[in-house]
Amino acid sequence: MASRKLNGTVIVTYRCNARCTMCNRYKAPSRPEDEIGIDTIKKLPKMYFTNITGGEPFIREDLKDIVRELYKHSDRIVISTNGYFTERIIDLCREFPQIGIRISIEGLEKTNNEIRGLENGFRRGYETLKELRAMGMKDVGFGMTVQDRNAPDLVPLYRISEEMGMEFATASLHNSFYFVEAKNIIHDRPMVAANFEALVNELLKSSSPKKWFRAYFNHGLINYIYGQPRLLPCDMSFDTFFIDPYSDVMPCNGTKDKLVMGNLNRQDWDELWSSPEAEKVRAAVRKCDRQCWMIGSVSPAMHKYIWNPAWWVLRHKLRPGKKYSMYEIPVVRDYRDGKVTKDQLDALSTCDRSAVANDGLKK
Ligand code: SF4
Repeated sequence: MASRKLNGTVIVTYRCNARCTMCNRYKAPSRPEDEIGIDTIKKLPKMYFTNITGGEPFIREDLKDIVRELYKHSDRIVISTNGYFTERIIDLCREFPQIGIRISIEGLEKTNNEIRGLENGFRRGYETLKELRAMGMKDVGFGMTVQDRNAPDLVPLYRISEEMGMEFATASLHNSFYFVEAKNIIHDRPMVAANFEALVNELLKSSSPKKWFRAYFNHGLINYIYGQPRLLPCDMSFDTFFIDPYSDVMPCNGTKDKLVMGNLNRQDWDELWSSPEAEKVRAAVRKCDRQCWMIGSVSPAMHKYIWNPAWWVLRHKLRPGKKYSMYEIPVVRDYRDGKVTKDQLDALSTCDRSAVANDGLKK
């Protein structure tokens, strides 16, 4: 099983300099001395794709050493960052010009700084992106977590990314141990969905097939915020994994409590990947009812079940003059027509107002 190349996410730290309203991870940081080291990273398997994330990965001053080691295992690496540590990012990109960088920007200037709690965060993120482009970096883009507060900025930000010739990745609110949060929820679903609908139409208008598939992903986000079953199966832990700063290998970052397949400080990869604990986690994934729709779990599924999004794209490209409508999703129509209430939709979400979130830390 381990000879197949996998899709991996390495959470190098839970420390973070931002104070995002939808993520409490900064309140439960990892201690630097506990964080995954090079000796453990050396044990990772071959990967066709690796995402490095945090916390804020650039807080780690040895990130270049980590990336150098990871390139021995992985065909492609993308780092998710808030873009604040401009000099460190530029310095790393000088050594690894082929690396992907995704900077989280949550809206236009005022909205971004309010949501991320980073003074001057927009300016710094934007300047970092511009510098990376000026250096000739190709795999650079924005990432935005869409919510009530920033949904109106969705299409304007997409247009900025287009002008800058950059990738534009989207997400919506999720609850999990990873975010140390259980109370995230979209309040005005039709308003947020209408902004996603406008983005889907922009993406479908483009001549780039990659953007048509992004349109499908955003259609899936509308489906997700209305609490509907995932459009594609979730196969996390079968050919994908996450590893956290404590070297615990997990299926994903979307579960309510942390699920652990094994620990790479104490085990070898093959032993861990074929262990009874890993099998137990796979059985739990098969029964998972979180219905989350994050790029980490959806991108592998879109590749694996390519005909499903491809058929959706074909249907929407082969009817010139007719726009995509969010009312293609039955529950969106039902809510508009008063057949479903807001309380019923809220009950379908993972939001639990009385929950005490697990902080994902080791006992
Ligand atoms: S649906 Fe998949 S990615 Fe989401 S929590 Fe469940 S197992 Fe994890």
